[in-house]
Formats: sequence, C-alpha cells, structure tokens
Amino acid sequence: MSQKEKIKKELEELEKQISECKKCDLYKTRTNPVVGGGSQDAEIMFVGEAPGFNEDKQGKPFVGQAGNILDQLLKSIGMSREDIYVTNILKCRPPGNRNPQEEEINSCAHYLDRQIELIKPKVICCLGNFAIKFILKKFNLDKEIQGASKIHGKVLKVSTLDGQIKIIAMYHPAVATYNMNMFNILKEDFEKIK
Ligand code: URA
Repeated sequence: MSQKEKIKKELEELEKQISECKKCDLYKTRTNPVVGGGSQDAEIMFVGEAPGFNEDKQGKPFVGQAGNILDQLLKSIGMSREDIYVTNILKCRPPGNRNPQEEEINSCAHYLDRQIELIKPKVICCLGNFAIKFILKKFNLDKEIQGASKIHGKVLKVSTLDGQIKIIAMYHPAVATYNMNMFNILKEDFEKIK
C-alpha cells in the first residue's frame, strides 16, 4: 500500500471514530459530525472553531456564510478548496452555535492532533480566537497567544519532527459577513499564504 493510500485509510478510520465518538455530550444534539474536507495532500490547513447550522446539516466544514467568505478569500489568492484541507477544533456543533467549552475542546483535541499528523501541513491558518489559542498552545507558543485583533496576519514558525510549520493567525471569516472592512483585512492576511 502506498503512503498516500495509507493516509487515506487512516483518515477514514478517524472519520469512523469521530462518528462513533461520545467523549462529550455534543453527539447528543448534533445531526452529523463534521470531520474535515479538502485535499489530504494539502500543504495548507485551515482550522476553524466548530460546525455551525449548515455544516451540522451537511456534515461538511464551512458550507454556510462563513464558508462562502472563505471561498472568496481563497479565490482572491488563486486557490480553491481542492488546494487546502479545512477542519475545526470541535467536530460536533455546539447547540445554538454557542462557544466551545474547555472540556469539549479537551475531549476533541486528539482528533485535530491526528489530522495534523496525517496531513502534515506546512502552513496552518488559524481562523478566529479559539483556533489561534488551540494551535499556538499545541506548538508551545503560549507566550504569543493574543486575540485575533492583535495577532492577525502574524506568521509564526515552529520546528517539528515533520519539518518547519508556519502558523498564520487570522480573524474568523464570519467577522466579514456584511463587513467589507473586515473582508479586506482578511484578504490582506490571506496574501501571506501565497
Ligand atoms: N464556523 C467554523 O468555525 N467552522 C465551520 O465549519 C463553519 C463555521
């Protein structure tokens, strides 16, 4: 079996584990788990917060309004979903789109850890405060943790056993809904990906 096939199989196994997961109570209220989407060969991984209403219904990440903005931002740098892998910290929707709770993040964290291990991205784009905190903590950059308004656009580099990873902190695309100023700020930060 080729390395590519192995990774595909491992991602499918992960998907199965997530669909059967009862580590926190969110499985009780979700419609579908949302594992992730895009290319398993992607060098760029986007990490959001948690599935929303549309994602929960379809079982796919970023398919609602925030997803539409993400697509426009990708297009602005000549990319599409096929060039990236996108996932969230939580794989199940918190009821009413409330913020993820600490225990939920802790229960779900190892799924994202595994996704990062398998995809081996060279760039991780953190979408919003929850993703910024999670990813910077994961890579021992605790001292750098700040809200998106302060840290957005900053590129941090970490050395890992799989080589160097660049981490880019960004606002969550949802902030640009009906707000052209925020869209332009995000667009500028997306330029860094290029
Ligand atoms: N917001 C997120 O953080 N993730 C999604 O998948 C959709 C909206």
